[in-house]
Amino acid sequence: MLQGKRAIVTGSNSGIGLGVAVELAKAGADVVLNSFTDRDEDHALAANLAASHGIKARYIAADMSNGADCRALVEKAGGCDILVNNAGIQHVAGIEEFPVEKWDAILAINLSSAFHTIAAALPGMRERGWGRIVNIASAHGLTASPYKSAYVAAKHGIVGLTKTAALECAGQGITANAICPGYVLTPLVEAQIPDQMKKTGKDRETTIREVMLDRQPSKQFATVEQVGGTTVFLCSPAADQITGTTISVDGGWTAL
Ligand code: NAD
Repeated sequence: MLQGKRAIVTGSNSGIGLGVAVELAKAGADVVLNSFTDRDEDHALAANLAASHGIKARYIAADMSNGADCRALVEKAGGCDILVNNAGIQHVAGIEEFPVEKWDAILAINLSSAFHTIAAALPGMRERGWGRIVNIASAHGLTASPYKSAYVAAKHGIVGLTKTAALECAGQGITANAICPGYVLTPLVEAQIPDQMKKTGKDRETTIREVMLDRQPSKQFATVEQVGGTTVFLCSPAADQITGTTISVDGGWTAL
């Protein structure tokens, strides 16, 4: 379905980004993987993806906390038809104790990077009259939790940026939408489990069920394949008139 389309997925050497890249490759898109590292294994990921799915794939190192790097990623890729803004980090602390450098980094990577990549990608999309911008927001783009001020602010921000991009591109064959996952078991979430276990004093499984998935009524993690599949759907003709909106993949979290 996506043969001949080039997709850039930021922050895609692990977790949801890699899962999205795999689903796009399965649908026939050429894929540009990215993270801030430049290791052999990063480039090997792209080579494996190309070999497994018969598509073109490259890995381009670029630091999404740096606006010039974000724009250079799109330029080095030669532009894109599908832009998935996925790179993200998390830090958990009360507002008074929240380290300023963490606040700045979260806002830069989780929000400002998307502004820069969208700005760099749009001229080519407009020329070709087709484009798909998919921002990986979060249930925290629609609702808040304590101790995640920067993350919640950035994710609410990216939902606003999504709506604005959609309006600026309306009727031009370019859509912009945000996917709002609940908890997906990836390194980002995995890294939060030991902290949560310390707080509860309970074992891993109980902590996952009672704390991590407390707000996820399905009591099941979403999967990277489901987020990837939703991205592919947003790139399909069925989604031509879906723009400026959010799609939750959260086991009912935001229905509560
Ligand atoms: P992850 O830690 O597995 O992946 C994050 C990716 O971003 C990695 O590839 C990492 O290398 C990359 N990254 C981090 N800093 C970067 C930088 N400065 N420049 C370039 N790349 C950078 O985490 P994940 O869970 O897969 O998260 C991916 C996205 O999904 C994030 O935006 C996150 O907020 C969002 N999300 C995750 C969940 C979840 O439960 N895992 C839920 C909702 C939303």
